[in-house]
Amino acid sequence: MPEPVFDLEAVIKRRGFLWRSFDIYGGAAGFYDYGPLGTAMKNNIVRVWRRYFVQREGFAEIETPNIMPEEVFRASGHLDKFNDVMLECSKCHEVFRAEHVINEGYLEITEEINVGSLALEDIGDLITAKGVQCPMCKGEFRPPYEFNLMFSTTIGRNKTGYLQPETAQGIFLNFQSLYSYFRGKMPFGVAQIGKGFRNEVSPRQGVIRLREFNMAEAEVFINPEERHYKGFDKVKDTNFTLLDQHGALHYLTADEAVAEGVIRHQALAYFMALTQGFLIEIGIDEERLRFRQHEKDEMAHYARDCWDAEVLIEINKKESWIECVGIANRSCYDLEQHMKTTGADLRAFERFEEPIEQEVERLKPDLRLLGRTYRNDAPKVREYLGSLSPPFPGRITMELNGGTVEIPKEFYTIEKRVEKVSGRRYIPAVIEPSFGIDRILYAILQHSFHVGKAREGVDSESYTILKLKPEIAPFKAAVFPLFNRAGMSELAKRVYDSLVETEMQVTLDDSGSIGKRYARQDEVGTPYCITVDHQSLEDKTVTIRDRDSTEQVRIRAEKVPEIIHLLVSGGIEFEELRNPESGGSD
Ligand code: AMP
Repeated sequence: MPEPVFDLEAVIKRRGFLWRSFDIYGGAAGFYDYGPLGTAMKNNIVRVWRRYFVQREGFAEIETPNIMPEEVFRASGHLDKFNDVMLECSKCHEVFRAEHVINEGYLEITEEINVGSLALEDIGDLITAKGVQCPMCKGEFRPPYEFNLMFSTTIGRNKTGYLQPETAQGIFLNFQSLYSYFRGKMPFGVAQIGKGFRNEVSPRQGVIRLREFNMAEAEVFINPEERHYKGFDKVKDTNFTLLDQHGALHYLTADEAVAEGVIRHQALAYFMALTQGFLIEIGIDEERLRFRQHEKDEMAHYARDCWDAEVLIEINKKESWIECVGIANRSCYDLEQHMKTTGADLRAFERFEEPIEQEVERLKPDLRLLGRTYRNDAPKVREYLGSLSPPFPGRITMELNGGTVEIPKEFYTIEKRVEKVSGRRYIPAVIEPSFGIDRILYAILQHSFHVGKAREGVDSESYTILKLKPEIAPFKAAVFPLFNRAGMSELAKRVYDSLVETEMQVTLDDSGSIGKRYARQDEVGTPYCITVDHQSLEDKTVTIRDRDSTEQVRIRAEKVPEIIHLLVSGGIEFEELRNPESGGSD
């Protein structure tokens, strides 16, 4: 008989959480498929994410394309700056991320080096000074170079496009429509759940470094002058473990962290607190969670400040802190870039309490030129130019007769005059919590995985349990007929159907001994098992077993959907079922 396998990776594959993509063709690094249980678990994580970052915050969720034209990423800076530093072996031509070579054991150093903060030449010098060779063939490395992480494609016959490396740009491009959707009220937030594509070179960390991965992002538009964030008071007592950009560790509440300037904006602290609450609710172990601030030179090109939620997990037999959420202050960068490039007005308006007198710049149209050029449309163009306020974009475009036209510079001059102004226009700043769903799911699996002594009815020495939170578990309950015997199977099917009706994810299992069936469900984290037995046929009661305590209680069969729902939603604790009022039978 083959030895039973008790490691998590084996469970993940065998039970259908995650599979290597294209496996029958030999696979490809950086791609994973979600099996039935993985898909169910991922959907559950996303459901809770929506509750936290869309519904409770009053944010809106949108969906935009995965493929975008080159101009978008030229403006956003991704085309120039979304790069990794690579090292290529001069002998076998294998390529590596410099960070991987430097930090993952090939170099004899005791401290982690932040490669993102080093210039290309410094990385080259470090490699030469330490005499690092190719881990595959011991060849010399060529000088390091930058490699853009975006996948390019062709739109139509010859227009260059890219697969989005983040879902955020689709939100920025729709700023005008979203601002009016929120009726001009600031701050507001917009979420998007979708795919991110990054052409990671030689990914060797399983599901941690994927080339196509699942993201959930919220872009929160705020007034950059505003230091407060609504709702901060609700989270101010949240306790954080914070590793700041100078390497100092702090244990502070959100309130203290902002007051001491460790976290530099209330909105950042607010979303860090929400992120922490969310991660713990879905099963990340609090003790293996921290926030780390990016060093100045490590930050993405668009970020002014960034804190990563990091989880401690084991990868390639080594414990490492892995980023699973990035919470960035993107400042006005993205909207400013898209505004500069397109001329679209991506600003918000702040109304003053009282109008004030102010010298303002206005566009003065050249009426003669407008009349000659636009004829009947001239009044529309004049009105549009008159409605614009500073700072004026480099190129002024407007919608006219179903098309976009650019108004040439010689058609207007900029004049100064004193006016009563009722408010000001500004480019909003953006706070962005950005979640990698795959890393979170994998970390939850590791943090929930327990190997213990064999339980009753299982003929092996050890036993694995996934102690998943009920709302994240792929199945909320499993229903078993004790025997495939007249009456029991039918009643089990009726109980199962009644659970399905409530849209809960459940499973019916009638094969093997009851001990084996419990073991199968414990291994995939099913929190409750319901068994139909001899007594059920007499008094229409069934047993319900709690995964973690293995305790069993008898309840009335008709109460099963209500009780499972209450248990999963936290409305009652399992121990309360011993109380007959909650539906137990004695
Ligand atoms: P970033 O925009 O780089 O801050 O990424 C946001 C989140 O996406 C990170 O916190 C990760 O959880 C996730 N992520 C980034 N790159 C990858 C990748 N190559 N594979 C899987 N998840 C990723």
